[in-house]
Amino acid sequence: MNTQFLDGKAMALQIKDEIANEVRSLTAQGHRAPHLAAVIVGNDGASMTYVASKEKSSHEVGFTSSVYRMPETTSEAQLLETIEFLNSDPDIDGFIVQLPLPKQINEQRIIDAISADKDVDGFTPVNVGRMVLGEDCFVPATPMGICTLLKRFGIETAGKHCVVLGRSNIVGTPVANLLSRKGFDCTVTMCHSKTKNLKELCLQADILVVAIGKPEFVTADMVKDGAVVVDVGIHRIPDETKKSGYRIIGDVKHSEVDAKCSWVTPVPGGVGPLTIVSLLQNTLKAYHKREKK
Ligand code: NAP
Repeated sequence: MNTQFLDGKAMALQIKDEIANEVRSLTAQGHRAPHLAAVIVGNDGASMTYVASKEKSSHEVGFTSSVYRMPETTSEAQLLETIEFLNSDPDIDGFIVQLPLPKQINEQRIIDAISADKDVDGFTPVNVGRMVLGEDCFVPATPMGICTLLKRFGIETAGKHCVVLGRSNIVGTPVANLLSRKGFDCTVTMCHSKTKNLKELCLQADILVVAIGKPEFVTADMVKDGAVVVDVGIHRIPDETKKSGYRIIGDVKHSEVDAKCSWVTPVPGGVGPLTIVSLLQNTLKAYHKREKK
């Protein structure tokens, strides 16, 4: 199989360039730059890395960026107060609350408190509802990134059988919804931990989207020849040969699966870079909506 790679890193650079050009032209005309804020509670290493890279990407495209760092002991009431402030701050176009949150805080109550107009993660019930109804909304960043990859690489989706492994609110469920809609027109099967005959279902997939959070779970015997495979998984595993002491692997065993694919996302450098770019695109959209008002 002549496998081709869905190079998210290169595509993210290209989209960031497009956003940066737009921001440059806005500010040259005397307009303010879009402003993305992030809230992080506690010291979770992965969360800190994600927020730092969101901040870096915001600066790269010329956005104003601010990060609200709150201690691990923050109460739900204190976090709700910060959210209220961000909801009403006229200088902020969109913000995210980095998940997971410490256990004393109810995540859903926090998400529910975010203004739908500033919910650039697309996690609030209002945006999820709008997405399901096919209305204009903020689409969650990772599913949006997957759709962008498929679209911009010209992957044929209409009438294809897409099997999605995973049904989380942030990846599996929204991506299954989006790919089944008009425009993508896939026939979608969504699988989860209680799904029977998982291997047989995977073998039927023209497009296999894997978001189950288990390192190298999908092996070559689960993939049809010529399938398009999108690996959402991110796992850090110790690797003494690397300067950092670790390497990143996905939910797919690429060493054996890639050769069977027509197209496949590398890990790292596939879905990940598009996730951050989608957040920037949503922020730009929130900015334009507010400026219009
Ligand atoms: P999650 O919330 O843990 O959800 C995992 C899903 O996989 C659940 O629906 C679960 O089923 C299902 N599952 C688990 N084991 C299974 C099995 N043996 N067979 C079939 N289904 C199984 O994970 P998530 O937040 O969606 O993230 C998935 C992966 O993507 C993680 O590795 C995460 O780090 C990564 N991720 C990457 C990005 C990015 O930007 N690239 C963004 C977000 C997440 P049940 O519902 O039945 O439990």
